Parts: sequence; C-alpha cells; structure tokens
Amino acid sequence: MDELARESDDPLAIDAARAVIDRAREELRAGADPGDLAARLREELASARRPTLRRVLNATGVIVHTNLGRAPLPAAALERALEAGRSYSNLEYDLAEGARGSRQDHVTRILRRLTGAESAIVVNNNAGAMLLALAALAEGREVLVSRGELIEIGDGFRIPDVLARSGAHLVEVGTTNRTRAADYERAVCAETALLLRVHQSNFRVVGFTEQPTVAELAAVAQRHNVPLLDDLGSGALLDLADEPTVRGALADGADLVCFSGDKLLGGPQAGIVVGRAELIEKLRRHPLHRALRIDKLGLAALEGTLLLYLEPERALREIPVLRMLHEDASIVRARAERLAAAVGGEVEETVGRVGGGALPLTELPSFACAVDEALATALRTHEPPVIGIVRDGRLLLDCRTLADGDVDEVAAAVRACR
Ligand SMILES: *Cc1c(COP(=O)(O)O)cnc(C)c1O
Repeated sequence: MDELARESDDPLAIDAARAVIDRAREELRAGADPGDLAARLREELASARRPTLRRVLNATGVIVHTNLGRAPLPAAALERALEAGRSYSNLEYDLAEGARGSRQDHVTRILRRLTGAESAIVVNNNAGAMLLALAALAEGREVLVSRGELIEIGDGFRIPDVLARSGAHLVEVGTTNRTRAADYERAVCAETALLLRVHQSNFRVVGFTEQPTVAELAAVAQRHNVPLLDDLGSGALLDLADEPTVRGALADGADLVCFSGDKLLGGPQAGIVVGRAELIEKLRRHPLHRALRIDKLGLAALEGTLLLYLEPERALREIPVLRMLHEDASIVRARAERLAAAVGGEVEETVGRVGGGALPLTELPSFACAVDEALATALRTHEPPVIGIVRDGRLLLDCRTLADGDVDEVAAAVRACR
C-alpha cells in the first residue's frame, strides 16, 4: 500500500481509486465479494499507464487488414524512421546549399526511378492525395468519372464526396456496368478540367461489362488537352497478379497516378502522386499541400521501403506484405502444423485474402490451426492479442499472416487462455 499512498495526490491514481470503489460498491450491492481492493487499484493504475495502441498477432489470413494497421513495416523502413525520429534531420534542409530544402526531395528521385515518372509528390494518405489533386487541378470545374467507379472504399470514404469537398463538379459518364471511351468523349466540354479513373478496389462488376483501357482514356484526354488522373488505390510497383502497376499506368498515358503507401506497396501510410512535372508542381504549390503534408517518420519509413524496391529480390524477401503474398502454401502449411502440434489443434485448409481493397477476388491458398471457438475472446484480450476468424463453431488461426517467429507466441497464448 506504501506505493499507493505515495500516489494519493496523483490525479490519475485518484480517478483509478474512484473507479475501483464505484465498481466494488455495485458488486457489494449485488451481493458479490469485491475481493482485494488494493490489488485491483494497482491493476487499474497499471492499465491506465499502458499504451492502448499495441502490437497484435494477425491470424485472420487478410494481409492488408485495415483494422489491424494495414502493412507491417519492413525492418529497413523502421530503421529509417528510428534514425529520423530520434534526432534532428535534414528533413527540409539542403545540405549542399546550406539553405532551406523540400521534404519531397528525399523521395522524388527514387519514385521517378521506380515508376518512370517525371516528378512526384507525397502526402499523408491517398485520400489526401486525391483531394489535393482534384483541388489543385479542377476546383470550380468539371471532372468526368465513370458511373462504375463512383465507389465507397471503406469507413465512408466515397469518391463523390471527396470530389465535392475539393470544389470540383462531378460529371458522371457511362453506366454502372458499361462505360466506353466514347462516353467521355461526348461529355468533354470547355468546363472539363480532368478525366478521373478510379480503381474499383474492393468490388468487381462481372458479366455484361465494359471499361475503357487507360490508353483509350489517355487518347481522349490528349485530344481535348485535359489531364487524366488514375487513382490506382493500392499501387503495385512490381507485377502482382492482374493488379495494374504504377509504371504501366504512366506508360499507357495517365498524366498523374495516385496510390497508397500502406497497401500493396507494403510501407507506411502515405499518398503518392507521380506523373507530369508541371501538374505535380501545381499540387506542390496548392495551400492544401501544407495541410496534408506527410510527417517525417512516415517519410523516413517510405524512403526506407522504396529503397528496397531498387533490388526487387530484396523487396520480395524483406517487405512483409510481399513476402506473405508470395509465400508458398507448403511453408504456410508447415507453420500451421507446428502450431497445431504445439496446442493440439487441427490443421485446416483456408483461403487467405489480400485485403485493403486490392485484388478482392484473389484467393491465396492458406492453412490454419483450428481450435475451440470459446478461445476467441480470451485470445483477443490476451497480451499480445491474437485475432483469428470464427467459423463453423471453431476459431481458425490462419498462418499466412503469421511470421515463423510468431508461432511460438500464438501457441503460448492459446495454452494460457485454455
Ligand atoms: C484505399 C483507396 C484510397 C484511399 O487510400 P488511403 O491511403 O487509405 O487514404 C483511394 N482510392 C482507392 C481506389 C483506394 O483503394
């Protein structure tokens, strides 16, 4: 109690004591024994001082899981963030000139190299990148978008709403399932500022469908001298199934391409826009750029991630998202077998998902260790928390999204929760 007495004028300790006493009163009223109040107060205080944002073990099989923090960062990215964060840096200082520099300069050159673009700008996230591009290029004017691409991405982020907030006017073209280049051609007028193409992300229209290619849209844009912005969402830098690459979209004639840093790229949260230098310059000079700017930790982690892409073999090995995407099912199975042997569970074939709105139809062959469904809650509140999938009365611990080193920890958690 000494330690608690010393804390008696600490407002946090006083609030904790009140909470413990209030709960004890209710328990007494209900006829229950509230137990050791000092111990409960110590736990209440410890809990108030513990961070709530913490590591979890993702056993869902969804690689880019938005609720679980999207991409786990490569070690090389974390090293860059640690170095930039723990001391002063040349964030906006040109060391050669001894004068003010731009934070954008740290990633522009490498983004040009990786995508073939003339220039690049990086902001807080891709929603911000879209808002900035629309505001800088189309405020007060018209933006043409296919009716099949007026999507909601998740958590209420809707393309028509972002467009409205940017001050641009949405002009819908085509139909939900079929839109042709000629639909854009007919809708272009003197008020048209931009053609916008949006990756359908988390859904697919199947059956009687038609969408113009980037090259067809680029031809319309060029004929009328308006830019084409392609929002790729995930933005793959390397070839991944049928996901369009950033380099490919630019090569096909998109004037600007925007994408997230923490989806298929496998880096920190960021919104990246690459493309024609004169358009990027307009984004840089727009006042919203300052409001949406990327912070130094994110920028450092992004540079660290992009540097890995200079050696694609290394990127596939060291970027966790890419490793999990490409890992052979036999390796995932071995992990599930090791977990099942350690906890007495059963190995089960499952289907992993890419997540984050990328490749929604892609099924990644995967394996899980199935345990009793009743463990789900205890595992979720364990330290570290383990998040699995409840299905058919069992809890599936999918091993595609666990690393080799995680298996022992998950096994220990299962044993502790039984
Ligand atoms: C995810 C996504 C966005 C938003 O990106 P954030 O980085 O989450 O802000 C925008 N457009 C598309 C097509 C997306 O898939």
